[in-house]
Amino acid sequence: MNDQQEKAYTEISQQVSICFDKADRFFKGRFKRPSMNLKQRGKAAGTAYLEKNELRFNLYMYEQDPAKFLQTVVPHEVAHLIVHQIYSRQASAHGKEWRAVMEKVFDTPAERTHTFKVKPPKVSFHYACDCQTHIFSKQRHNRALKGTQYLCKLCKRNLEFVIAD
Ligand SMILES: [Zn+2]
Ligand SMILES: [Zn+2]
Repeated sequence: MNDQQEKAYTEISQQVSICFDKADRFFKGRFKRPSMNLKQRGKAAGTAYLEKNELRFNLYMYEQDPAKFLQTVVPHEVAHLIVHQIYSRQASAHGKEWRAVMEKVFDTPAERTHTFKVKPPKVSFHYACDCQTHIFSKQRHNRALKGTQYLCKLCKRNLEFVIAD
């Protein structure tokens, strides 16, 4: 992890602890603490893996608005784990038990969706010679645009830009 990821990890795990402490006080018990990572990708801001007792958070979305992420996404996912530890499979994902934990324990609106932007998929740049297609990274593509010439090792021809997708 780089410094930025390290910082995000620390902030989010502190918020997870705060949420669990609140739940412990509210229910007068001690909930089992989960493991946590920043591996969430795609459209979800986070996922609670109930059986593994694991939380995954989306770093790309955290970075858009850390304060909002800590106030909304973290309690949302922690509430799933709390409900699971109390009710096991009997409660539905965003049902009344989950809403009650959000509102009464975390004092947070029980919102099911987030408004963070989804990370755009990586674009690859296709180049061609006489014998094959070559995939360039954005950096390499930018160097080519600035005039760097790339040769195919097999046919020795200049690579020409074809399409980005
Ligand atoms: Zn949810
Ligand atoms: Zn070639």
